[in-house]
Amino acid sequence: MPPAGGGAGALPTCLSFFSDLMPDVQTDAAAAPGTPRAGAPMRVWRLYYRLIAGHRGAFWLAMAFLLAGIVGHLVFVVAAGRLVDSTLDALGFGISADRGREPIGIDEMGVFLLLTMVVTLVCVFIDMRGFIVLGERAAARLRSDLFTHLIQLPMAFFESTRVGELSSRLLADVALLQETWTNDLRTFVKNAMMLLGGVGLLFLLSVKLGGLVLLTVPPIVLVSVWSGSRIRRESAEVQERLSHSSTIVEEVLTAIRTVKTFANEGHEARRFGASMEAFLRPALRVAGHRAAYVCLIMLVLFASIIGLMWFGSRQIASRHLTPGDFTGFMSALVLAATAGGLLAELVARFQRMSGATERILSLLEEATEDGGQAGAGSAAMAVIPEGRLVGRIGFDGVSFRYPTRTEAVVLREFDLRIDPGERVALVGPSGAGKSTVAALLFRLFDPESGRVEIGDRDARDYPLGWLRGQMALVPQEVLLFGGSIAENIAYGRPGAGREEVVAAARRANAMEFIDRLPDGLDTRVGDRGVQLSGGQRQRLAIARAILKDPAILVLDEATSSLDPENERLVQEALEELMRGRTTLVIAHRLRTVRACDRIVVMRDGRVIESGRHEELLAAGGAYRNLCEAEKTAGGFD
Ligand code: ADP
Repeated sequence: MPPAGGGAGALPTCLSFFSDLMPDVQTDAAAAPGTPRAGAPMRVWRLYYRLIAGHRGAFWLAMAFLLAGIVGHLVFVVAAGRLVDSTLDALGFGISADRGREPIGIDEMGVFLLLTMVVTLVCVFIDMRGFIVLGERAAARLRSDLFTHLIQLPMAFFESTRVGELSSRLLADVALLQETWTNDLRTFVKNAMMLLGGVGLLFLLSVKLGGLVLLTVPPIVLVSVWSGSRIRRESAEVQERLSHSSTIVEEVLTAIRTVKTFANEGHEARRFGASMEAFLRPALRVAGHRAAYVCLIMLVLFASIIGLMWFGSRQIASRHLTPGDFTGFMSALVLAATAGGLLAELVARFQRMSGATERILSLLEEATEDGGQAGAGSAAMAVIPEGRLVGRIGFDGVSFRYPTRTEAVVLREFDLRIDPGERVALVGPSGAGKSTVAALLFRLFDPESGRVEIGDRDARDYPLGWLRGQMALVPQEVLLFGGSIAENIAYGRPGAGREEVVAAARRANAMEFIDRLPDGLDTRVGDRGVQLSGGQRQRLAIARAILKDPAILVLDEATSSLDPENERLVQEALEELMRGRTTLVIAHRLRTVRACDRIVVMRDGRVIESGRHEELLAAGGAYRNLCEAEKTAGGFD
């Protein structure tokens, strides 16, 4: 509730209003990094309004209650003033009768004030709760929109962005916006309305006094803006001198060895002392100016208030205004000035918020994988093909460089054809480009030139999600998500039933160890659960792939070797998985590739040899060399 009493309380709040117009050096500096753009606060708003799309009814309801609460405030202010008239009427001054009003008793006024307050508070409760709930909703929606969008961005984005940094910055930005939406937005609307309502009330109570208030605003604003800009200029000079002295500190401390060997401590201390002197002079001058400017503003302000009080008293004396209405008038003035002060503060805050909004919006505007950038083929063909993918693969003169390392050509005119059901192993020294071939197959990246064909079409012609759904990767390092083993297997095909999960685990030779775990399939794995061995994790990955039932399979062979028993179990599981599927093995050890239909040897992003194990050995080329190197070194990767 605002203070109902007269002009004295108005001073500090009015001062705060005008001192807000006079930018403070420090807050200004703090605002600088977010370099506010014109209309920035509108972006904060617009984003909010978009995010509460499903709850706009609640928003406008909260707005209505906010408005009602403000009307309640204003009524309270007038009524509190009228209580003064009731008192004077009771003393026999006949104040109300002068203005042709029916006198109201003190008790009735008291009850009315109490009722007004209760109704106002109910409105405040409803609108405040509404705005907080909406702000929380908007922030939650923003978080999930951001996350959903983020994981759909192309690999190139993740290659070039430090994701950890990005996610923590985003969380901080959202937290900032959340605070704005739950609190500041309401305060802003409330004060804007309060300012309008307050000024309206001034005129309602006395047109002449209201006009007088408006007349005093321009000189006060002018003096504030003028002195504000002068102080800012002078403070900039002080800052500059201060930074000069910090340069000395930095300089001397980095060269402290030299300073000491020359025994120049005294000299440096004097130099620093002189720079402090140079800093102090303008700083002291600014101190004087600052105080003078504040006094000047206060002078203008006091003069206005005295003018108002003098004119008001004359109006009362000439019976053109009741003392009660004058009291109400002064209270409304306080209300309006306070609201104005808070508004100025909030606008500055909104501008600071604009940096956070910009960052969030720019992330939301990044094109997703299927949104054009990555799917640069005939993306119009987004119709999901019927049936299963034919497991035919063709790389036609594919050249590729990673977007983050454009100086290195990773694949050069790379050609490879794999028929449905064929098992092909890619071998070659580390860095030859084997994993890159798999990445292109999954369309994590698209080739710079040439074509990747899958089935009977250009890989870019398929809807990305569908295409990846038809392929499976068994990676070197199996990452398990926190959750049960069953959930981890079902990751291959979310929504798979329990029996399907069990069947896949059995075919992957995984039931053998799962049955021995304390909770079987429901045992939790990962950070907070049991730790599984390499071979066990691999079998889970195979079970995942079996459940997915892909047409094309990519095995990125594990580099670390397993004990013979585990090796056998994994190998059997792989055999089961590969049956009837086109398989591309990225082989890091040659021992495992012998059974493949074809071995393709890569070097520097090209195919240099291709054939069956025996053929290649007999040819005595690169493959034979690799085999011999592996025999002596126990591995080449
Ligand atoms: P291989 O699987 O045969 O060991 P890769 O396909 O992993 O080879 O790597 C081929 C080349 O591409 C290497 O020179 C490697 O440094 C580079 N490379 C691999 N991944 C990336 C990446 N994400 N960003 C930049 N360069 C990469």
